[in-house]
Amino acid sequence: MELASLRGVRKQYGKVVALDGVDLAIAPGQVLALLGANGAGKTTAIALLLGLVRPDAGQALLFGQSPQQLAARRNIGVMLQSAGIADNSKVRELLELTRSYYPRPRSVEDCVSLAGLDGLLGRQYGKLSGGQQRRVQFALALCGNPRLLFLDEPTTGLDIEARQALWRAIGALSAQGCAVLLTTHYLEEAEALADRVVVLARGRVVAAGSMDEVRRHVAQRRIRCLSALDTARIAAWPQVRDARRVDARIEIVTDAAETVVRRLLAEDAALSELEVQRAGLAEAFIELTRDAVGTVSSTQREAA
Ligand code: ATP
Repeated sequence: MELASLRGVRKQYGKVVALDGVDLAIAPGQVLALLGANGAGKTTAIALLLGLVRPDAGQALLFGQSPQQLAARRNIGVMLQSAGIADNSKVRELLELTRSYYPRPRSVEDCVSLAGLDGLLGRQYGKLSGGQQRRVQFALALCGNPRLLFLDEPTTGLDIEARQALWRAIGALSAQGCAVLLTTHYLEEAEALADRVVVLARGRVVAAGSMDEVRRHVAQRRIRCLSALDTARIAAWPQVRDARRVDARIEIVTDAAETVVRRLLAEDAALSELEVQRAGLAEAFIELTRDAVGTVSSTQREAA
């Protein structure tokens, strides 16, 4: 059963298409990372799943119900980018109050240890550092013992140590069976935490899959060279995913660059200007995101 899903969701703010036909789903115990650049639509996706905004088309479901249903929201914890927490409250009061909303809250001690709140319970929220406030927000999100935790850019503004502590806490929650949907700009964060990744670019899903699938994608290399060889024949080589002629050059996509390069050199002694590009994880995402731009501008024109 899916804990939460978006099905064919479109959301427009005035002329801006924030989400355009987005499908995504999170299963029990899964950590799903929603990756994308600024303005890609990550926060909007979360807001739809939380019932804070309604889709213009398509459907948002939380535990099989409309996210507007209070019953659906009892099983979630939420940490958004803007917290709206009363500055003059003590951390202990905030935690006790939030725990009181839930039928089976986590113990205060558990919250303190998971979120790293040692020594902060007696402090006034408004006087904490940005990073300390972020930890309190995390504690408030997990204190209800949720089955599904929404974390919108949880580690923004945290130093390296605090970031890693939060990653460990997310790992611990996940090991206890809590599903997590997190948004992030940081590829290494998705790599460290996520089972599944959905990449958004300008309101569309441009890649989705397990971390392994994404890594496989990244194993691909692009070979370029000047050669008179026939691209249709190269495309039939077992290791070759794609071969085409781009202007004077041949461009080949493969997972086995060495083998293909050796065969190219063996078959064409006159081959020149050989180039093999390694795509890192970051490059792969940039490429995916860039590919989406053309489609998007036409969408925005339609909307305008
Ligand atoms: P970031 O990483 O910067 O937080 P994001 O991926 O979360 O970005 P969203 O906040 O979902 O992106 O925004 C998607 C698009 O929708 C952006 O172009 C944004 O300007 C626009 N948008 C979001 N909320 C509103 C709103 N309430 N009114 C008007 N436009 C909005």
